[in-house]
Amino acid sequence: MRRYNFTLDEETALALDRLAKERFGGNRSEAVRAAVLALAGRTQEGWVLTGFTPTEATREARCHCCERPFAPGETAYRPVFEKRPGPGALTRLPAGPWLDCAACAGVHL
Ligand SMILES: [Zn+2]
Repeated sequence: MRRYNFTLDEETALALDRLAKERFGGNRSEAVRAAVLALAGRTQEGWVLTGFTPTEATREARCHCCERPFAPGETAYRPVFEKRPGPGALTRLPAGPWLDCAACAGVHL
């Protein structure tokens, strides 16, 4: 890792803040990294986990991460993927059903 100190004009700083907030959980370093790698043609486009959407757990379903069974009628969280370049982008969507419990969905965001 190297630390850089550089100056941005106001418009670029606002764009960086917005990009970091919308796509990288507020992490400006990750936003700069993804932008530089994309410009350099080094980041492949893929499927990036961008959030979760609530749904009612189906019978027999278990949490994808902690494998805890859901209670009948419990709210589960289905992952939402967006196709774009980004760190950790998957080359293909995960196969099979994927539901997370609230605790595990929170860990990923
Ligand atoms: Zn879980």
